Amino acid sequence: MLARWNQAAISDRAARHTRCNGLQRLATSIVAGERALDLLSVNGAEGARWRPFEPDRPPLGYASFYYADDLAALPVRAVTRIKDNKSDPNIETGTYGLFSTCQERMRAGIVKHGASHLFFFARPRGAERHLTGMYELAAWTPGALGADAGDFALAAGGVRFIAPIPLSQLPSELATALGTRWRLSKQLSAAQTHELAALIAAKPDMTSDYLLEVDRLERLNKFHSGYRYPTWQREDPWTWADAAAYMRPADAAAGGARVSNASPTGWWGCEACDAAIENGALLKACPSCRKLGTLRPLNAPAVARIVRSS
Ligand SMILES: [Zn+2]
Repeated sequence: MLARWNQAAISDRAARHTRCNGLQRLATSIVAGERALDLLSVNGAEGARWRPFEPDRPPLGYASFYYADDLAALPVRAVTRIKDNKSDPNIETGTYGLFSTCQERMRAGIVKHGASHLFFFARPRGAERHLTGMYELAAWTPGALGADAGDFALAAGGVRFIAPIPLSQLPSELATALGTRWRLSKQLSAAQTHELAALIAAKPDMTSDYLLEVDRLERLNKFHSGYRYPTWQREDPWTWADAAAYMRPADAAAGGARVSNASPTGWWGCEACDAAIENGALLKACPSCRKLGTLRPLNAPAVARIVRSS
């Protein structure tokens, strides 16, 4: 019995080692700026839907806040957040909004204005806001919920995450501008964009460490629930192989409706398969039937009916 356990532990370690190398290679290709080429060519017909931003456009950045994972050594997105596992910023693919419904208004603004950079901020373990990294934006596409619903996915040509810097330790003008009250996103000036991008570019690149941390948290979820993303009923990490499934048009049952990103009860009902699921934010795909755009908020009486009948 002991020998068998040891054998399993050894093969698990070997698998993990291979996985780590894979992540390192992924990080290297991101740093080498090859992701834009990947997304525009590897995805075949789906890749053709990506539209490149003008490469020589003037600098225009957005500051974006995300929930950091309380269990993480580095402030990656809140993968283990209970009943609200976060998939963005999805640094594994260098995308934002491809898989989640987070910050729809910001994504629409970025596409409308042709923004060049997306800068990320988070509160590591409840501390003050810190600057954590950036995307150099390369391309966009209408998201699964459609351009009419204001849903766009963004893809980066460059991804760089760094040792987090507290806002108060940024150069004084940036600290003042970013220290004013803003909640989820803020449009920046050309000068602020230029300065933040230069500041991040000058710091050691820790993207591969962030990728490993995402993987560690996902495995923690999987150990406890069987899923890397429990409320999504998702067992696997995110890769570009998932892009095609999320770039299909929404299911006919979705009816082209614009759906609120919040449910008063935290419960959602599927128009296609009638499943009821619990998750903090609206999910693009129904965890049960995998159709896109079919979830609707459930009100308290509807949830009470489900609880009574279960
Ligand atoms: Zn469904």
